[in-house]
Amino acid sequence: MHDSEADNRKHWAIVGGGMLGMTLAYRLAQRGQRVTLLEAAPTLGGLASAWRLGDVTWDRFYHVTLLSDTHLHALLAEIGVEESMRWVETKTGFYSGGELYSMSNSVEFLRFPPLTLAEKLRLGATIFYASKLKNWKSLEKVSVESWLRRHSGAGVFEKIWLPLLKAKLGDAYRDTSAAFIWAHINRMYAARRSGLKKEMFGYVPGGYAAILDRLAETLRGAGVRIECDAPVHEAVAAEQGGVRVTYGGEPPRRFDNVVFTTPTPVISRALPDLTAGERERFDGVRYLGIVCASLLLKKPISKYYVTNITDAWVPLTAVIEMTTIVDREELGGHALVYLPKYVPSDDPLFEESDGSLRERWIGTLEKMYPHFSRDDVQAFQVCRARSVMALPTLGYSERLPPLQTSIPGVYAVNSAHILKGNLNVNETVQVADEAIAGVLAPALAAGQSPTTPTRPTRGDDAQAARELIARP
Ligand SMILES: Cc1cc2nc3c(=O)[nH]c(=O)nc-3n(C[C@H](O)[C@H](O)[C@H](O)COP(=O)(O)OP(=O)(O)OC[C@H]3O[C@@H](n4cnc5c(N)ncnc54)[C@H](O)[C@@H]3O)c2cc1C
Repeated sequence: MHDSEADNRKHWAIVGGGMLGMTLAYRLAQRGQRVTLLEAAPTLGGLASAWRLGDVTWDRFYHVTLLSDTHLHALLAEIGVEESMRWVETKTGFYSGGELYSMSNSVEFLRFPPLTLAEKLRLGATIFYASKLKNWKSLEKVSVESWLRRHSGAGVFEKIWLPLLKAKLGDAYRDTSAAFIWAHINRMYAARRSGLKKEMFGYVPGGYAAILDRLAETLRGAGVRIECDAPVHEAVAAEQGGVRVTYGGEPPRRFDNVVFTTPTPVISRALPDLTAGERERFDGVRYLGIVCASLLLKKPISKYYVTNITDAWVPLTAVIEMTTIVDREELGGHALVYLPKYVPSDDPLFEESDGSLRERWIGTLEKMYPHFSRDDVQAFQVCRARSVMALPTLGYSERLPPLQTSIPGVYAVNSAHILKGNLNVNETVQVADEAIAGVLAPALAAGQSPTTPTRPTRGDDAQAARELIARP
């Protein structure tokens, strides 16, 4: 049916089989379009994909869902996995001055020794104020450092915010806008607001592998053709109309429309005919990457899902103990711990061998947790991703790459378009849903010839993108 000449539906290529590409492919298929999903890796899922670690299969990177993740819940309900979700109340730890503190409720916060009472009140007031702020655009104009110094004072900034910013962003915190911290605070606030004033995190038994399997099955059922091991090298306007796409080792193939969902460096490389202005915007997005180790342990190291770290000697962004949420039975009775370190895409950490990271990071755990021994480690594996999160720099939304490029039929709908949140699957699904209702709607509308889309005027596309995403 797919390649039959009688099939007159528009043919879309979705480039990138992560959660964004899969959601878009599903939504287009639901609207009667003919869809091919092209994924470079051997399996679907991108950052949400799973791997084999020792004798278990679980996410390469840690994932939890919040009660407030409404777009994701809707998708999970549609594919029939939402009702199997498990919800667990979580605890948060803080490693500061060589001590591990619990920071899971207001009483513990008030007891937290590194801050004076006045500093605690100021920190609490900053978080509360940020949670009430609606005009996030004004926060894009001010650096996260000056905003936090102004609201929390020098003491709180130096003792708490600065170490946390450095742990998450490295030196890139200097170029990051206050919208970054606003998005973080709002996500954590929303988690409590929609629940029982407790922090509840959820997961699907089987992890993201279970979600991805069901989603892939749903896509196939909806007629989507899925091609893995199919890296897209180039997309150019085809002479006969539409877009000529070169991928994998295949001869070029023509599609009516192509939507890239990959990080912007991939898009910039694959589109030789971008205008200079467009290329500047695509290449202007700065990404943070991640080097993240997964450890299977004989026993737990803490009771905290996240342990934030303020001590500069610790070379990690945080310690994540997944089995404070996921039932250990699911993981063969082991404890699963992640050691993430966010770094710029070109950081030398990407070149460090697994063996060297293992030695350094397990040594770090031994110093942080006196009861921890390297003999407890049953598996240690490192996953690296260079382009994970677009850095929300000053005035970021004014410099966004276009959602619709000047190449007819070629769109770039990726997570760099998350403006009002931090990177998470809910925002990713929302970007897909908004693109269907917004930038892709004209091509979807009946009656419009797919091979002759209106060429946007330069500037209009960026404006349209801003308006689409800035919608409340
Ligand atoms: C450490 C970490 C922790 C996280 N924790 C959470 C969490 O707790 N909760 C949550 O909701 N979210 C979390 N996230 C975020 C979540 O993983 C992402 O929001 C989501 O997976 C992004 O999906 P995506 O499709 O936009 O991007 P990706 O997953 O990056 O997908 C892009 C896809 O494009 C493919 N590709 C690249 N180049 C090409 C090419 N040339 N041709 C074809 N395909 C190509 C890639 O292989 C990839 O599969 C976390 C992410 C990380 C890294």
